[in-house]
Amino acid sequence: LTAIKDLRHLNAFSYDITSDEEEALELAAQSEKRYKQGNPLSPLDGVPISFKDNFLVKNMPSTAGSKILRDFVPPIDSTMAQRCREAGAIIVGKTNMDEFGMGSFTLYSEKVPVNPINEDLVVGGSSGGAAVATATNQGMAAFGTDTGGSVTFPANCCSVYGFKPSYGRLSRHGVILYSSSNDSPGILAQNIDDISSIFQVVDGEDIKDSNSLSFTEPELRTSLKGVRVGIAEEFNIEELPQERIDEQRKVIDILQDHGAEIVEVSIPLLKQILPIYYTIIPAEAASNLSRYDGLKYGLQHSTVSSKDSKVDYQEYIQRIRTEGFGINVKRRIALGNFVLSTQDVDFNEMYIKAQKVRRLFCEQYNDIFEGIESSKGLQKGVDILLSPNAVGDIPKVSSIRSGEIDAIIGEYSQDYYTVPSNVCGAPALCLPMADVDHLSQSEKKPAAMYKLWGKYGMDRSLLQIGKLID
Ligand code: GLN
Repeated sequence: LTAIKDLRHLNAFSYDITSDEEEALELAAQSEKRYKQGNPLSPLDGVPISFKDNFLVKNMPSTAGSKILRDFVPPIDSTMAQRCREAGAIIVGKTNMDEFGMGSFTLYSEKVPVNPINEDLVVGGSSGGAAVATATNQGMAAFGTDTGGSVTFPANCCSVYGFKPSYGRLSRHGVILYSSSNDSPGILAQNIDDISSIFQVVDGEDIKDSNSLSFTEPELRTSLKGVRVGIAEEFNIEELPQERIDEQRKVIDILQDHGAEIVEVSIPLLKQILPIYYTIIPAEAASNLSRYDGLKYGLQHSTVSSKDSKVDYQEYIQRIRTEGFGINVKRRIALGNFVLSTQDVDFNEMYIKAQKVRRLFCEQYNDIFEGIESSKGLQKGVDILLSPNAVGDIPKVSSIRSGEIDAIIGEYSQDYYTVPSNVCGAPALCLPMADVDHLSQSEKKPAAMYKLWGKYGMDRSLLQIGKLID
């Protein structure tokens, strides 16, 4: 709690400590007692963790970074928060984010978090506050959400580990919705062991999320020998700087030295991933965000209804939404409503078409892992895929603010390596190339990062392979 107070200027948290300090200290004391008696509740007992501001955490403001939900204090816990509490973890606060998770840099946030490695670099987004909190020890780990890279990209920018599980593996109950078919809770920490311990505690079906499932996985590997690592030809894009290619080469060398096999594969529809993603997510966002009308909760205008009797319902909602939503959210809602209302031949039902291409993309993705019968005979499946995690260099805040980097195109194109895992619901892990000392970066540059792509439902296997490489 002292660290959180001292590092307030980094804006990792959306409110100054949102937990009740006395309560947190009391919980810590209880946990210490349990340790002394030799019966901690779980490996998370007494561990301080934070939640992104779009998780409902009982008695803490939960606003998804939006003015429209300002001061909204939920009466219930999200399943993730509840499971952590039951395991003895201490929730230290809510982290800053791009409004409703829409964005890649956390610049669509009232209090923009500061990158502890180099303050002129973006912290990534939308779970930017979570990445800053993790990198600066404000909690042992942070829960973020990942709809299209919002855990792995900020983890990249702040040199921490980021894990996005398979869709449906971690419950979305009590997570403020963005794009329901892509949203997933995720975990940021300073090493894979911490991610695994937390994942073990919160993993598992939840009756309150009808899309959640429980999975069984084969026994975990103990070495990299024989692990088949796929590299898709579509990973090699024009925009990729030589530096990224060289870094990737180093990881390949390590893998081969340890007996892993590198396999060339192809996922042709990967090239269409941004249009697929950016057609589906605004449509789902427009639909999900239609619930914010200023009547049930969040921003309200008492003046409008009582004194100004001429203001009708439509006008009231319009005022609330105009004032309550920020620019990027409005852009996505407009785009989403457009996508959903195009029924004519020219646009040929964009949402439905995007869903069809999505299904084909998923088939191609799954085939790579399952193995396929081709003209060359049976091609065995891979265990993981390996790629860079970010396309270019981490953008500078100043370049975005001055317009040198186009904020919108820059944001969308950054997602090329991240959104595929959401579109097909598969797990993803991003990790730094070498051990990083999080607070004393001499080069003022985040560590080089790479991404491991897993098979749907094989989350623990992915974490284990990551650990073996790390
Ligand atoms: N850049 C992506 C978007 O804006 C990230 C979303 C996310 O994962 N929450 O949609």
